[in-house]
Amino acid sequence: MTKAIPTLSIGDHAVRAAHYVNGAWVDEGATFQVFSPIDQGMLGSMPEASDLLVDAAVDGALAAFPAWAALGAEGRLPYLQRFADAIVDRAEAFAQVESHDAGVLLSRLQHGIIPRAALNIRWFAEAALKLQDKELATHQAHHYVRHDPAGVCAIITPWNSPLMLSTWKAGPALAAGNSVVIKPPEWAPLGCSILAQAAEAAGIPPGVFNVVHGHGPTTGARLVANPRLSRISFTGSVPTAKIIAKVAAENLIPCSLELGGKSPFIVLEDADLDLAAATGALQYRNATQVCLAGTRFLVHEQVRDAFVEKMRAIVEQLVIGDPRDTATEIGPIIHPRQFEKVQGYVERAKAAGARLLWGGEPHPFGPLYYKPTMFTDVAPDAEIVQEEVFGPVLVMQTFTDDAEAVRLANDTVYGLGGVCFGEVGHARAVAEQVRTGFIWINSFGIRDLAAPFGGRGQSGIGREGGDYSFEFFSDIKDVIVPTAPFKASFAHR
Ligand code: ADP
Repeated sequence: MTKAIPTLSIGDHAVRAAHYVNGAWVDEGATFQVFSPIDQGMLGSMPEASDLLVDAAVDGALAAFPAWAALGAEGRLPYLQRFADAIVDRAEAFAQVESHDAGVLLSRLQHGIIPRAALNIRWFAEAALKLQDKELATHQAHHYVRHDPAGVCAIITPWNSPLMLSTWKAGPALAAGNSVVIKPPEWAPLGCSILAQAAEAAGIPPGVFNVVHGHGPTTGARLVANPRLSRISFTGSVPTAKIIAKVAAENLIPCSLELGGKSPFIVLEDADLDLAAATGALQYRNATQVCLAGTRFLVHEQVRDAFVEKMRAIVEQLVIGDPRDTATEIGPIIHPRQFEKVQGYVERAKAAGARLLWGGEPHPFGPLYYKPTMFTDVAPDAEIVQEEVFGPVLVMQTFTDDAEAVRLANDTVYGLGGVCFGEVGHARAVAEQVRTGFIWINSFGIRDLAAPFGGRGQSGIGREGGDYSFEFFSDIKDVIVPTAPFKASFAHR
């Protein structure tokens, strides 16, 4: 008799509390508990994959790889379309579960993240059809440069947006003909279990899509140390990225690392202050547990007071509360440990003499809720200016001319994103001097799947998105066919 696979009930939805390896659900190993940040209520226990199971997942992915690769982009398309459909079919389950598990706003899940997760799979599957061999004609040969499937890709995602990020990586990896092993975040693992349920329902061949649950230093570390991997794609913190990069270097496995940031939010003197202030308040979305948020405000001193008052008026109206409530705009911080970290940054900034413009304390709604906070009057090298908080704590500095704005914007070890408000030509001129992987002009958060995403400096290595994802998740091969008679001569070449 086969053992029943345990499930967790979240609202009306059943989530498999198991790993998905080689097309089978596996419930083995020690367990860890999963709590909801909404009220710290226990959602249930998830199993932690053993070393043996992690290795088996990579072996299964390796065995499944040749047939999946051989299908070609056209052959893979119907599978991936069904996968995207299966995500849409489970939209309500994803929304309820991610909201409970990661504290993300239900409305944002329903209207933004879940349709986007399905699109991540569908878009890359279709884009792979259009991947052309690059042709190069030289005087002696015709070259065609192919994107060959690479092999098994390990995907490690963080807790702030596990579903969005897992599909953003798995979509192009699968479309390019690779098999994948995903290690979801231990603080928010449930969405990836539903993702595996969707993959199974879509008939993705066994071994092509795998999910192993567990903690980073155990399950995650075992996965990234496997020498049979062909790629590692990681989104998370800088210290973990450095550990993974060292391990990847041992086996010479290419890795893509998308890390944190302390991105500038620049308001020039000719900015539309109403739009800039409304967009500024948006930086509190997901309680600023967002790598790409603009968290260092740089405001021209001429417009500073007006900007502060406009942004304050919006921030005072923000609704903090239960992420399942449609009126809520800011939900909880994911975990007590993250909450303590955020509070530590605030207390140290206060002690160092930074002045609060607003916030600076927990919100009474519940134990993991924090007031949107803004510091000012800070030294450029202050901790609160230089370090990523990953919570709703922003900081504001002023500048007197463009050169100072650019200098302050670049005065960081990070280089992920940025925002620049101003007359468009002026804003572009400033933005072009800011050293980041991307920067939004008079806007925020526009993410096109074809566009590159990633950071410089301590914000990471590599770019994903569109062709950049295909470059990363493929082995580039040049096939050279001579166009003139080839002479096998030792005297030449
Ligand atoms: P965050 O602070 O955003 O959680 P982490 O870098 O700690 O950032 O975690 C991001 C992901 O990396 C999580 O899925 C976590 O389990 C995983 N992780 C943590 N440590 C390791 C490690 N040594 N090897 C592989 N994965 C890890």
